[in-house]
Amino acid sequence: MTYVADLGQGQSLAIDNIGTQTTITWEIKTAGSQQSQQMSLSLGKWSASPIIYRMTHGFVLQIESNQRPYYVRLQSNSISLLSEVPLMLGAEEVPLRYVASSSPKMPEMKPLEPLRMGKMTMRMEPMEMSMGNMNVSTSSSSTPHFCSQCGNKVKESDRFCSQCGNKLS
Ligand SMILES: [Zn+2]
Repeated sequence: MTYVADLGQGQSLAIDNIGTQTTITWEIKTAGSQQSQQMSLSLGKWSASPIIYRMTHGFVLQIESNQRPYYVRLQSNSISLLSEVPLMLGAEEVPLRYVASSSPKMPEMKPLEPLRMGKMTMRMEPMEMSMGNMNVSTSSSSTPHFCSQCGNKVKESDRFCSQCGNKLS
């Protein structure tokens, strides 16, 4: 879930909700320079679409999650989570655009890794098969033979007992 907003004057905002993590990316482009501020907050899964307001100074982002709204202030090149509801007097809503695919630079690709680990269980299958072969080889090996003279354990292929030299049948 990614929302983007054009805040004017070379400013753009991208808001992502991946799992319980909300990532806010604020880009400010001025002549010859580009600044980017990013903040990641653990606010839970959004229960409504975020809303961005243009204030007299800066912007206020409203994120609804966990049955309560969170307010994030974007002002003076910094992003901060507000502990209380800001004064919304004269606030003007800036339209947000929903984009299906998330922005290309996503450090949040990590949650996919546990899924890839699922293939490792498939790789273990040859191991199980080799263990099966071992079972076959042990079962095919002959039952132990013992020397009739001294009771020494002998191989079936042995013609004489290695212990006492008794001729084996
Ligand atoms: Zn023997």
